[in-house]
Parts: sequence; C-alpha cells; structure tokens
Amino acid sequence: KELDANDLISGVVHTFALKVEQNNGKIESFLDAEHATIFVDEMHITNVVFNLMDNAVKYKKPEKELVLTVRTWNASDKLMISIEDNGIGIKRENLKKVFEKFYRVHTGNLHDVKGFGLGLAYVKKIIEDHHGTIKVESDIDVGTKFIIALPLLKK
Ligand code: ATP
Ligand code: MG
Repeated sequence: KELDANDLISGVVHTFALKVEQNNGKIESFLDAEHATIFVDEMHITNVVFNLMDNAVKYKKPEKELVLTVRTWNASDKLMISIEDNGIGIKRENLKKVFEKFYRVHTGNLHDVKGFGLGLAYVKKIIEDHHGTIKVESDIDVGTKFIIALPLLKK
C-alpha cells in the first residue's frame, strides 16, 4: 500500500505516548522527511516501529527518565527513520547478535524483562523484505539507536 511514512509514524507515536508517560518517559519526534511516500505493507511496517519503541521502554534505565527520539529525513533517494533511546544500551560484542532469532542479552538482575528475542529478527526480516536496511548503534549505559533506510516510491 502507498502511504506517508510520517503519518504512519505519528500514528504509532500517538498510540505509544500513554505507555511511555506511564513509564516515566517522553517521546520527541522530528518527522523532517519531505518525501515520505513509501509502498509498504502497512501492518508490518507499523509493527516494526512498534517493536523498536517497545524495546526502548523495556530496556530503559530504571532510575532515569526515558527520552525516546524518533526522526525521519531524506538521504539521497531514501526515506530514513531513526528510533533512539537513552536506555541501558547494548555491549559492542553483543551488538551484531541482536537481530538473531531468540537472542537476548543476559545482564543478570538488570534484565528481568520478559521477551522471546524475536522482535528484532522480525524487524530485520520485514525491512529486508521491503528492500531496506537496518543498523544499530549503541553505547552501554548511554542508549541505543536503530536507523532504517527504505526506498521511496518513485513517481
Ligand atoms: P521480544 O521482542 O521477542 O518480546 P526481546 O525484546 O528480548 O523479546 P528483541 O526485541 O529481538 O527481543 O531484542 C533482542 C535483545 O536485544 C533484547 O533481549 C535486549 O537484550 C536487546 N535490546 C533490544 N533493543 C534494545 C534497546 N533499545 N536497548 C537495550 N537493549 C536492547
Ligand atoms: Mg523486543
């Protein structure tokens, strides 16, 4: 389906706002992409954004206010989306495993958060099915940023 990525993302931000507030957090969005028309499976791409925001809430630093920053912009002929948090972060040696099925980082007490380790494997599969790419940058105790590139619909 042909749709505007900024609209899709603001929809997810809207549904997520209450959950983030209840978890001592806030969402800041900067949907700056001027060209944002993409041809995608609406349900799956919505789930992708939802999954990344869900992780930001799950892996926040308990003592710190969560700031979830969502951006869109255009880079060459692509639509870029970033979803960034100031949570617990992921160690460099674990970073390349996070997209694997059933992979979860073990960090003892800190990590008594439930999950199957499937969210990011699903996210990567959906983005690649749409001929896009996803990468992750993270610093332990600082936060994590996922950056997605999707092809724009050409007219
Ligand atoms: P599921 O999404 O299936 O409920 P999950 O959240 O554990 O379970 P993924 O979403 O695939 O699985 O994430 C894999 C692992 O990567 C997580 O268990 C967590 O250790 C780490 N991780 C993912 N997102 C973040 C994040 N934003 N900050 C810190 N760690 C993260
Ligand atoms: Mg998850």
